[in-house]
Amino acid sequence: MKGEAQNFFIPQTILVVDDEPQVCEILSDSLVSHGHDVDSAADGFEAVEKIKDRQYNLVITDMDMPRMDGMELIKYIISNHPDIDIIAITGHIMKYKYTDVVSAGAADFITKPFTLNELEAKLNRVVRERHLRVELEKLAVRDPLTGLSNRRCFQDIARKEAIRAVRYQHSLFMFFLDIDHFKEYNDLNGHQAGDALLVETAKLLNGSIRDEVDAAFRYGGDEFVLLLPHLPNEQALAVAERIREKYSRLEFAPTTLSIGVSRFLERSGTIEQDIQDMILRSDGALYQAKKDCGRNKVVIDQFSC
Ligand code: GH3
Ligand code: MG
Repeated sequence: MKGEAQNFFIPQTILVVDDEPQVCEILSDSLVSHGHDVDSAADGFEAVEKIKDRQYNLVITDMDMPRMDGMELIKYIISNHPDIDIIAITGHIMKYKYTDVVSAGAADFITKPFTLNELEAKLNRVVRERHLRVELEKLAVRDPLTGLSNRRCFQDIARKEAIRAVRYQHSLFMFFLDIDHFKEYNDLNGHQAGDALLVETAKLLNGSIRDEVDAAFRYGGDEFVLLLPHLPNEQALAVAERIREKYSRLEFAPTTLSIGVSRFLERSGTIEQDIQDMILRSDGALYQAKKDCGRNKVVIDQFSC
């Protein structure tokens, strides 16, 4: 654990806030010598001005200061810059308790007098925890097998894309894809081979969409979803058809790919209902591709043509 903590160093952009210039100087010199980029401010008021001008990862703030004290500063940062971590410093006459400071949103708390090593250790822990938090957030929205975004993430992205489509009056298409005869493939080749097929399918989808524009999701099991904004109506079917054909060239017999296509339409008055409607229409088109057209087909929903 000790070794891990020592290896884990990410230089931080830090703002040190204290009304005693000497404290600011000692802290800044120490943090700079450890490789961090450091500014200082004499009170909460000056800190706010600096935070507006520059992106800090971390604020180390005294609590007792004139004009705007540490508690007010913590509250300002939590409301306006929630990505900034805060370490609070108090003197021996404690106006605020540990619980007050941490409840207000500080990541940690250190009491004067403290050693610089103590501060560096707390700082490293705060940075490590932030890093873990970011990794966990990524894991929560990613499908572990294929690396694609998961269904939960789809809901968020679909909402954002739908809002943008309405605001800028551009198109938004949804492709609902389901592998045909996947159970049979699993039965013939084993679950591990089935997993490998899902991974290859994800790669194919990622390779078939526009970077930074479209998004691919594993919706569940052998179901995938693509969201394609800004896609001209007349191209939607051709794009889906190209993906279906590409899949058939992977030669994962007896599997093929069926795709239901729908376009986002403002039909109900609320974004949530219209997204649900888009999902239901692409699901309906997929069902038709499977049941009515015998699979290995692209079907577009009747309202989306
Ligand atoms: P259809 O042609 O109608 O789509 O039928 P299908 O055989 O593809 O089966 P269906 O889509 O109804 O069900 C998906 C199957 O995928 C069910 C399950 O056994 C299998 N499956 C779901 N998740 C995984 C997974 O993570 N790995 C593997 N190997 N198989 C999975
Ligand atoms: Mg299937």
